[in-house]
Amino acid sequence: MTFHIVTIFPDYFESPLKHGVIGKAVSSGIIKINPIDLRSFTKDRHRTTDDRPYGGGAGMVMIPGPLAKAVTSVRKGRKEVPVILFSPAGQTFNHKLAHELSQHKELVLICGRYEGVDQRIIDNFVDMEISIGDFVLTGGEPAALVLIDAVGRLIPGVLGSDESASDDSFATGLLEHPHYTRPRRFMEMDVPQVLLSGDHEKIKRWRRKKSLELTLKRRPELLKRAKLSQEDLKILAELGFYGDTKDE
Ligand code: SAM
Repeated sequence: MTFHIVTIFPDYFESPLKHGVIGKAVSSGIIKINPIDLRSFTKDRHRTTDDRPYGGGAGMVMIPGPLAKAVTSVRKGRKEVPVILFSPAGQTFNHKLAHELSQHKELVLICGRYEGVDQRIIDNFVDMEISIGDFVLTGGEPAALVLIDAVGRLIPGVLGSDESASDDSFATGLLEHPHYTRPRRFMEMDVPQVLLSGDHEKIKRWRRKKSLELTLKRRPELLKRAKLSQEDLKILAELGFYGDTKDE
């Protein structure tokens, strides 16, 4: 999978993508990062990428010319390569969207700066606007890193077989169960006995219960969309949840 990133700060992506599983996937070529310097598509000697907004007001807006050229140069008319613009007004990024995007071979990511980009770019060159949450960043670059990390780990071969993403929070529709590791006793706190039992069925049931418990406590709305078995519903009823689990 290749991530083409249109940005005025191409160096931004150097260090963060060198580390951990994403770093390994970049070194092995499973993930390719192609930062595209927006300024290389400017013509004036100041390499201008922004200008004052028509109608007045504070801040600057990214001019359309260099953005249009940068996107066109990388997309090369291939409609199957989605162009994504980061924007607080976009659809909120989540696991489902990360999974959908991981099915593509290439993505073009546009990182906004200043007050954002000229609307004509959004109307004619962008397939999807994505927000990473209800807050405002100074630029789209941190959002691009978030997307690359979340999408990248879902690409086959990026996580080792012992690090499968299939049990992760949200992948199952629920939050994940708690984890414990050595030592068995830490500051007078013990690892739950069931995890030491060696009884895999019992451990599986315990983990599912903890997962349901945590989701009910922290994100009960997720239960409406999660795939729940009769056993899950029984556990939830024991936990005091009798809510309608069907989609509204
Ligand atoms: N004037 C814009 C507004 O009020 O919606 C905010 C622009 S922000 C200072 C500059 C750039 O950061 C945006 O164009 C976008 O690319 C990026 N950005 C800011 N917040 C974001 C968010 N929550 N998710 C994704 N990108 C964001």
